Amino acid sequence: MSMRELVVLGTASQAPTRQRNHNGYLLRWDDEVILFDPGEGSQRQMLHTGVTATDLTRICVTHFHGDHCLGLPGMIQRLSLDRVPRPVAVHFPAGGAEYFARLRHASSFYETAELAVEPIDTDGQRITLGIGTLEARRLRHPIETYGYRLVEPDGCRMLPERLAAYGIAGPDTGRLLRDGHLDRDGRRVTRDEVSVTRPGQRFAFVMDTGLCDGVYALAEHADLLVIESTFLESEAALAAEAGHLTAGQAARVAAESGVRTLVLTHFSQRYADPRRFHDEAREHFSGDLVVAEDLQTVRVPPRRVPSPG
Ligand SMILES: [Zn+2]
Repeated sequence: MSMRELVVLGTASQAPTRQRNHNGYLLRWDDEVILFDPGEGSQRQMLHTGVTATDLTRICVTHFHGDHCLGLPGMIQRLSLDRVPRPVAVHFPAGGAEYFARLRHASSFYETAELAVEPIDTDGQRITLGIGTLEARRLRHPIETYGYRLVEPDGCRMLPERLAAYGIAGPDTGRLLRDGHLDRDGRRVTRDEVSVTRPGQRFAFVMDTGLCDGVYALAEHADLLVIESTFLESEAALAAEAGHLTAGQAARVAAESGVRTLVLTHFSQRYADPRRFHDEAREHFSGDLVVAEDLQTVRVPPRRVPSPG
């Protein structure tokens, strides 16, 4: 079975705490291993996870505030140190290209790794991957910020007992899949009669934003949503002013968007007790709820039940 899971490297916004490293997230999704928003210390946190620099296929940065990108110099140099043999794709807001250039060459190192740099300059920009589509959406924050989602297209699963009932076997099965129908004994058998839809899975990553259309566009029907909840509702005014979300807002987005597993993270150091985020979110969201801790692994939930074709 293919591996689809989130590995949390860090969960602190702005300043780390004794319990929480700066931000950083790994998504393992079949043959893609994507690093999101590596803050300071991400390289060392990764040591605890079993994921190595040579596993990385892609790096996505939402914006160039320090807690989301100051881990880049170390991670990029590590790619060269470990002589990663294939290009690693890197996405970030195009307006921050100057910051990226500085972080990429923050100090002297022997550069062997190849980066395939593909900045994001358009709301809704899509990047086609082998596993589906990576889409960026503009978020609302004091500097240019994009969230990301990964969308796997719906597939089709053939039902052997139905194929057998129609006497379809061998190359005819492939023909039916390709053409969508097969004519046999004067009757047309359609693909829908012998298959079910295999629902594609979705992952969404929403970091540093006030509530806006982009948040909802990314969260829509996500199987796993990772979303910032820097503040609690008691600081709602401060959150709105700074371009951040509260746990309550994040949970309402998840509930309205049909999210299955909700992962809250990017917590302000002002709150000592993480249960407060859970309790506030639980008032609005009844699905699987995770208040992220450093080095936690969260599995992408099993596929939605296929609907009969
Ligand atoms: Zn920020």
